[in-house]
Amino acid sequence: MLNIIGHKSIPTQSELITDTCAYCGTHHSVKVYVYQKYVFWFWIPFLPAGKTGISECDVCKKVLNEKEMTPNILSVYQRLKANARIPIWMFSGVFLFILILGYWKLKDREQKKNSVDLISASIIGDVLEVKNKEQQCTLTKIIDIKQDSI
Ligand SMILES: [Zn+2]
Repeated sequence: MLNIIGHKSIPTQSELITDTCAYCGTHHSVKVYVYQKYVFWFWIPFLPAGKTGISECDVCKKVLNEKEMTPNILSVYQRLKANARIPIWMFSGVFLFILILGYWKLKDREQKKNSVDLISASIIGDVLEVKNKEQQCTLTKIIDIKQDSI
């Protein structure tokens, strides 16, 4: 099934450390990864949603999550996590939302300006079509014009 809303993770930082793997005993084989999670909406990255991480041995492929890491691995992980920056593209949905909102605001302002121009250009005797609701409109004949009303 296709996910319209969900979250994903991508690796943003990694480092090969000098520790020995606690499971296979191989020296200099453990790599620490920091992942940045993000929320997507309609496949567009919307917002970052926290960081997570693992360590993996290149030889035995043993993966440790944050709670299983040894103190040495955990300290490397925490340093990498503190230095990991959030990629700017993870805010794409927010930027897109702001652009759409700005476009609507401009369009609304332009419509209001057109209405004001239409009203200020009106003269007594003009007939205007006024929309009340979606499917309703009325015809209005201008019989008097005052400073702020017709
Ligand atoms: Zn190993």
